[in-house]
Amino acid sequence: MNEPFQGREIWFLTGSQDLYGEETLQQVAEQSQQVAALLDEADQVPVRIVWKPVLKDSASIRRTALEANADDSCIGVITWMHTFSPAKMWITGLDALRTPLLHLHTQANVALPWADIDMDFMNLNQAAHGDREFGYIATRMGVPRKIVVGHASDDGVRAKVGTWARAAAGWAALRGMKLARFGDNMRGVAVTEGDKTEAEVRFGVSVNTWGVNDLVAMVDAVSGDAIDALVAEYEDTYDVVPELCAGGERHESLRYGARLELGMRSFLKEGGFSAFTTNFEDLGGLRQLPGLAVQRLMAAGYGFGAEGDWKTAVLVRLAKVMGHGLPGGASLMEDYTYELTPGKEKILGAHMLEICPTLTTSRPRLEIHPLGIGDREDPVRLVFDTDPGLGLVVSLADLRERFRLTANVVDIVGPDAELPNLPVARAVWVPRPDLVTSATAWLTAGGAHHTVLTTAVGLEVFEDFAEISGTELAVIDESTTIRDFARVLRWNQAYYRLAQGF
Ligand code: MN
Repeated sequence: MNEPFQGREIWFLTGSQDLYGEETLQQVAEQSQQVAALLDEADQVPVRIVWKPVLKDSASIRRTALEANADDSCIGVITWMHTFSPAKMWITGLDALRTPLLHLHTQANVALPWADIDMDFMNLNQAAHGDREFGYIATRMGVPRKIVVGHASDDGVRAKVGTWARAAAGWAALRGMKLARFGDNMRGVAVTEGDKTEAEVRFGVSVNTWGVNDLVAMVDAVSGDAIDALVAEYEDTYDVVPELCAGGERHESLRYGARLELGMRSFLKEGGFSAFTTNFEDLGGLRQLPGLAVQRLMAAGYGFGAEGDWKTAVLVRLAKVMGHGLPGGASLMEDYTYELTPGKEKILGAHMLEICPTLTTSRPRLEIHPLGIGDREDPVRLVFDTDPGLGLVVSLADLRERFRLTANVVDIVGPDAELPNLPVARAVWVPRPDLVTSATAWLTAGGAHHTVLTTAVGLEVFEDFAEISGTELAVIDESTTIRDFARVLRWNQAYYRLAQGF
């Protein structure tokens, strides 16, 4: 897998005009370079911030927008009007711009120099109204953007810029992403269906199906030496149960698990895929339902959806990119069953096998157990509890004329007691604001039962992604009430239909 931020950059564009004379414009150039450098050096910002020469007229603004569109390394642009930049000069540029936009409303100085301030200072430091002129034209033209207010040395400002940069990197990763489906959706299931052509129109993701026996051929071709090496890695990395270890009576099952992983890796690498789906109803010549293999591929950054759920596979990959390099992880998740004792309400999330081990910092156990579903040999799998902490579950549903993201902020708490008989990885959480409100809102929104659970990024990065991609996002968090939530969904229904035109 490619390093998702490698070679990516964001351009820093400063607006001004010729009115001020050479000396002032020189100061604008120097100070805007300092602002760009403050963001570039910030730990919170995961990609390079590249300063561009100050923009003073319509032609150069349009030219810069076209260059940003055409340059694959440029995943977004930041604009700042240090002085007053009459906004008609931004019209053709903003009209041409197809790259995510962040409007940074800042100024060169932090403190206002009360004792020394004169008209030269006022002439130079006009962002307080220069940026309002820019905001007007961007709003009038309906340009999607994130607005961040404050000084570039402020940690909160840097964090917001960094979060948006992560969303922009996620958007860039989806444009041109290839997703391989092994088989179709689980028969009869509604929510995992969807318009694959529309997904490519809206997100740029190419979703296509391969016969599972194309995969079987690559699994069968894996060499014994490669399996030996991977099994040794398993024994180093996990607590492998004795029956699976070398000399154990079920060691051959672990070797087949390694063969599955190596075959799947080859298939995905050769095809340039960054996400995939499987379906237990369509395993062809595979001897196990892929459990361990899928878990480890997710940990390597691949998106995954079970039962042919390609939309969730897209979300898992998106969360992997946006959270890259941060503590925590992201995984396919499924709301499985509830603890409904009054005062202790919580959700137990899991899947048949496929939960990503990036959700834990502890050492997973590598085990083998029977699985009634799939009608194959017992599959090997990693078993662990997700680390406690803040989390976010997100689903993507196809509402026929649009996609809807539904997100719930959750507190991962761990199980109330040991789970000695549950042979799968899991997460236990309390949804905000509470289980009753959360589940009522989720069902009202038509959110899916498959989700991505991320512990690496929070709500804000998905809000930024929704703005960049023009996707509806229904949010369930500590401030949610059912009355307001249902009302917003009703408004969204009208808005998103009108927004896409006829
Ligand atoms: Mn499922």
